[in-house]
Amino acid sequence: MPQWNPWHGCRKISAGCKNCYVYRMDARYERDASVVSKTLQFNLPLKKKRNGTYKIVSGETVYTCFSSDFFLDEADEWRPEAWQMMRLRNDLNFFIITKRIHRFEVNLPPDWGDGYPNVTIGVTCENQDRADYRLPFLTTLPVQHKVIICEPLLENINLTTWLSEKIEAVIVGGESGNNARVCDFEWVTGIRSQCIEKNVPFRFRQTGARFIKDGRLYNIKRHHQHSQARKAGIDYR
Ligand code: SF4
Repeated sequence: MPQWNPWHGCRKISAGCKNCYVYRMDARYERDASVVSKTLQFNLPLKKKRNGTYKIVSGETVYTCFSSDFFLDEADEWRPEAWQMMRLRNDLNFFIITKRIHRFEVNLPPDWGDGYPNVTIGVTCENQDRADYRLPFLTTLPVQHKVIICEPLLENINLTTWLSEKIEAVIVGGESGNNARVCDFEWVTGIRSQCIEKNVPFRFRQTGARFIKDGRLYNIKRHHQHSQARKAGIDYR
C-alpha cells in the first residue's frame, strides 16, 4: 500500500510517543527527528508517470503522514495544499493517524462540510487519560470515517463511552523496538469485549515486543508480532 509523507519530523506529545519509530529510524541516520520539514514527495498524489497516468493508481489506500503528525502546528501552512490534493484525488482513500485531533480544525478546507468521503481519521489513544481527552474530539468532529487506534496499548482502557456505529474500527497493538513497554493480553481482550458489546469492529494488529499472557512475559521478535496477533484469532467482524 502506498505511503505519502508530505512532511517529516515531529514533536513528542504524550506517553505513546516515548519510543516513536520516527525518532528511532532517524537516530540510525543521525538525523534530528524533531526538525519538521517538507519532503520531496510533498505532491506525490498528483505526480504522474511519463505516460500521463498517476503514479499512485486509482483505488489505493494511501497511508498519509506516517513520518510526522498531519495536524502538527509546524505544518499548518502546508496542510491546506495537502487537503487540496486529497480533494483532487477523490479516487484514492487517505488514511491519517493523529495524536493531535484537538488541532483538526486548524486550516480545514472551506469545502470540508461533513468531511471528504475519501479521508479516514484514526486517533491514537495509548492510555485512559489520552482516550478521555482525544475521543470527545473524534466523536463530535465532522469526519466521515473514524477509527480508534490503541497502539502502543499501555494499560487497560475503557472506551465504552465513545463506541458507536460512527466508529468504523478499533485497532489495538503492543509496542515494538528494544525499549518496548509491555502489553498485556488482558487489556487487549478487555477492549475487544467492549467492541463486541457495542458491535464495533475490532482488530488485534500486533503483540508488540514484550507481551504478557496469563501472567507470563514473552519477548516476541519483530517479524512474529503481527502473525502472533493474527494467530490469537480474536478479530471481530
Ligand atoms: S505524534 Fe506520532 S510521529 Fe509524532 S512523536 Fe508522537 S508517535 Fe512520533
